Amino acid sequence: MSAKLQTPIDYLKGVGPNRADLLRKELGIHTYQDLINLFPNRYIDRTQYYKINQLQRNNADVQIIGKITGFKEVAQKRGKRLVATFQDDTGTMELVWFRGHKWIRDSLKPNKPYVAFGKTNWFSGKFNMAHPDLELLEDHQKNLSSGMQAIYPSTEKLTNKGISNRVMSKIMQQLFIETGGKFTETLSENICSELKLISKKDALFNVHFPKNQNLLSKAQYRLKFEELFYIQLQLILKNLIHKSKIKGFPFEKVGDYFNTFFSTHLPFQLTNAQKRVLKEIRVDLGSNAQMNRLLQGDVGSGKTIVALMSMLIALDNGFQACLMAPTEILSVQHYNGLVEQCKSLNISIKLLTGSTKTSDRKKIHDSLENGELQILIGTHALLEDKVKFKNLGLAIIDEQHRFGVAQRSKLWKKNTSPPHILVMTATPIPRTLAMSLYGDLDISVIDELPPGRKPVKTVHRYDKNRLNVFRFIRDEIDKGRQIYIVYPLIQESSALDYKDLMDGYESISRDFPMPKYQISIVHGKMKPADKEYEMQRFIKGETQIMVATTVIEVGVNVPNASVMIIESAERFGLSQLHQLRGRVGRGAEQSYCILMTGHKLSSDSKTRMETMVKTNDGFEIAEVDLRLRGPGDIMGTQQSGVLNLKIADIIKDNDILQSARFYAKKVLQNDQTLSKPENSVLLNTYKQLGKYKNIWNYIS
Ligand code: ADP
Ligand code: MG
Repeated sequence: MSAKLQTPIDYLKGVGPNRADLLRKELGIHTYQDLINLFPNRYIDRTQYYKINQLQRNNADVQIIGKITGFKEVAQKRGKRLVATFQDDTGTMELVWFRGHKWIRDSLKPNKPYVAFGKTNWFSGKFNMAHPDLELLEDHQKNLSSGMQAIYPSTEKLTNKGISNRVMSKIMQQLFIETGGKFTETLSENICSELKLISKKDALFNVHFPKNQNLLSKAQYRLKFEELFYIQLQLILKNLIHKSKIKGFPFEKVGDYFNTFFSTHLPFQLTNAQKRVLKEIRVDLGSNAQMNRLLQGDVGSGKTIVALMSMLIALDNGFQACLMAPTEILSVQHYNGLVEQCKSLNISIKLLTGSTKTSDRKKIHDSLENGELQILIGTHALLEDKVKFKNLGLAIIDEQHRFGVAQRSKLWKKNTSPPHILVMTATPIPRTLAMSLYGDLDISVIDELPPGRKPVKTVHRYDKNRLNVFRFIRDEIDKGRQIYIVYPLIQESSALDYKDLMDGYESISRDFPMPKYQISIVHGKMKPADKEYEMQRFIKGETQIMVATTVIEVGVNVPNASVMIIESAERFGLSQLHQLRGRVGRGAEQSYCILMTGHKLSSDSKTRMETMVKTNDGFEIAEVDLRLRGPGDIMGTQQSGVLNLKIADIIKDNDILQSARFYAKKVLQNDQTLSKPENSVLLNTYKQLGKYKNIWNYIS
């Protein structure tokens, strides 16, 4: 763009130091460029006028033509307010000011037609408009360049200091005057013509001063496309550079381990989704590039077997593999499962966690380094410096959302050459979001559950229904089933949460007395060995009820458990609720999830409960979650920068995102370095955007 756009906003006529300061602080506008990229939130039709008797109590911004017939000052708690009577041929209303009385009285002319613009309120039996934008009708008609008026994002401070929407529009107009509206094109001719996009200059003009609805739509489309296109370009480019620069170990063959397992050990038929994902992984592993793949699959979709079979491919090629899980319980469970499934394959597998004895630890370290040990399963303990592999070929991370980025990259550096990496997650990330967040990882999705699974029946019950719920539990236990009862533990340290848990445990012990009923309890304050002991009793079926905090959230597999009761369910987020529910419904029996809440629920909590009752689809739930919480929250704050979009909407503009991704890919396929003349525009723009580095730091 032209050099002029880097000019500090202070220099724009009509801005000045005070307003410039406000614009910087309130809206982050430092330069002309920032201002031009302040896109309107919405538009109103300024050829549309209301009569006072047409006003509705829930009116948004409206404009009314009328005359000021008089002023009065009304005393209020603090100071006075200035009230003008505003009249048209259908009635009267009030215009109200809380500040600037003198100036307003002096500058407004009584009995002349004005256009008042703003939000109307209903107060003491009358409509009023506070701090309206007022313009003499004749000026209004002169200034009216189009019917659509942009409404800009604003803050209370801005409005209080007199930067109304009208002032904002004026400032924007001034920007167009000073720059002559000449904005350099930022997309290539190819893309513009293929997609019939309007030029950058027309788009900017029409997004701020739309000539009509049609041009406005075109302008918005073009700008949204551009925004998403450059994000995708960046992500895909990173991925390509990664692939060409970082050589992986090519796993050329699929050998005996894999084949024997596949033909004689596989305990069930793979689902089509599992087969497809395995194929994707095999292609990656067989290529020269290092794999960096995210495997998404709803809880219970069968990611573990995919992990195991991928590790077998590594072994077939003479490499070691490791699988890291976020909790001790989950690591143990993976370890036991894998040992069981690989029984006669003659593979050496070991478990390494925080509670591994020092003597065993030493042995593990040695056998890892000399290559005897083929598969290592464990927790964060795998990341310790002492853990050195002879030739780690594949590292798998289960439930990746539990690990930070730093931890992941540590695993990366375990070898001179980085191992192939597979991260698995059951936190369903809507595809739109995944594409923006992980656009530089390859993504595989298991979108199918193993056959024969009955969807979990979910109900919402209030605390007062507890007796019925307990009766239901008793019936299920009589049928030989097992029950989870989960308490929220929002803060690891919260004494109150523990009290809830222990109170709950006591009351359950009373209602389900020994020896007929056996109860396990697991929570974060217990020693790992004790947790493991309690967990094992439940897994073996020695206890019928598991009372726990969310430590069981991730990955535990007890197919005989058929009821999940979630206490104070309103305190859990949607994705957590869904994860917890995923602990049941793993066997052939009908399973149930009971959400227990207090009577008073916020509207968000209600939506969460209703969503859980309505659907079992993790992706659908993730979409609702995204809507309730906004994208920033979903993946934690550090990633939210990625979603700091100026005009596109990550949820609503999915189609544009797909198209942007498609074209970004296409461009890079033909010209990876963007060095062809027809792509010089893209290269230049891309380089300029490089300044906004912080956006891209997320995945390293
Ligand atoms: P998750 O994706 O949540 O990690 P798991 O890998 O733990 O799911 O699998 C859940 C359960 O489904 C396990 O008991 C597993 O043995 C079983 N399972 C996985 N794949 C299949 C399949 N194709 N057919 C039948 N059962 C399967
Ligand atoms: Mg799992």
